[in-house]
Amino acid sequence: MAVIIGDICINCAACIDECPVEAIVDEDDNPTGEEYYYVYPDKCVECVDHFDTPACAEACPTEGCITWDMPFTSDNKAYFSGDNYLDGKGYGIDDADAQMPFRDDISTEDRKERKPVVED
Ligand code: SF4
Ligand code: SF4
Repeated sequence: MAVIIGDICINCAACIDECPVEAIVDEDDNPTGEEYYYVYPDKCVECVDHFDTPACAEACPTEGCITWDMPFTSDNKAYFSGDNYLDGKGYGIDDADAQMPFRDDISTEDRKERKPVVED
């Protein structure tokens, strides 16, 4: 992925039009069936080459809702095919072969801990 939207999302829509690659879908299109917004990990580019920081998280009014997750790269395909999504749900993925850009200044530890992208 990249980034992940948590269950404290209030479905406010502030993030969806900020995404430069249309990686975000609303609650009606969330492939996991959850009733909140979703970021496709095989589409999110962490805003690399678009913005200095992830635009979705900058726009989100809900504290800590959007957090880091693992990069969607060949090294992490097992992670994304497992049950690592919140509440044990699997990820919704359109293109399992995708190799997505990611921010290498974000540590693996911060990603595994799902550290908020924007912190106060
Ligand atoms: S980090 Fe950027 S590319 Fe990824 S979902 Fe958010 S706005 Fe879209
Ligand atoms: S901006 Fe935040 S709270 Fe609003 S829909 Fe997006 S993730 Fe959910």
